[in-house]
Amino acid sequence: MSSGNSTGSPPGPLPRRAFLRLGLAGLAAAAVGGVAAAAARAGERRTHVWQLDPGKCVQCGRCETACVLTPSAVKAVHAYDLCGYCRLCGGYHHPQARSIDSAAENQLCPTGAIRRTFVEDPFFEYTIVEDRCIGCAVCVKGCAMFGNGSLFLQVRHDRCVNCNDCAIARVCPADAFRRVPVDAPYLLKGDAR
Ligand code: SF4
Ligand code: SF4
Ligand code: SF4
Repeated sequence: MSSGNSTGSPPGPLPRRAFLRLGLAGLAAAAVGGVAAAAARAGERRTHVWQLDPGKCVQCGRCETACVLTPSAVKAVHAYDLCGYCRLCGGYHHPQARSIDSAAENQLCPTGAIRRTFVEDPFFEYTIVEDRCIGCAVCVKGCAMFGNGSLFLQVRHDRCVNCNDCAIARVCPADAFRRVPVDAPYLLKGDAR
């Protein structure tokens, strides 16, 4: 099939007026497409919010660094019914901890955002102090390696500004982010708080 004009010769340069007309038509089409896409995104923003699937997360650390907010809108949460209430907690204690206690140097969390409370021998409860949590996933990785995986990350919707294009979703290596209905905004494990 010829890509030239009806004379068989290659197309010559477009007259300036035609070029402008085509250019404006193209721009107008692009603008209509852009407006439609923006309207669709705006509509979706009203009905859906971003959330991460804890079953896909590989604890890469980008939830801490890629969010447009500082600290991140992503926080650790804890499913108490999955937790072993371990005396030595993989999500709380540093692997090289000198003793199994609450001394700062024995804690894994870089911000001291996990509170350890004695329940009864030999059980301890671990609670996230959310204001201190930066969403780094270090505790999540520790719990997944040595415990029951009861610590995991979630986008907290009292903080997230529900960006059109979530900056974390763009860089998440596990494709763990997706939009979920606004009336079911969490993808929790167990009885998470
Ligand atoms: S960016 Fe993805 S894989 Fe990395 S910590 Fe966040 S959810 Fe997990
Ligand atoms: S280790 Fe990181 S994700 Fe876990 S509680 Fe501390 S700051 Fe939050
Ligand atoms: S939507 Fe925006 S504020 Fe919410 S987690 Fe993603 S980057 Fe952070």
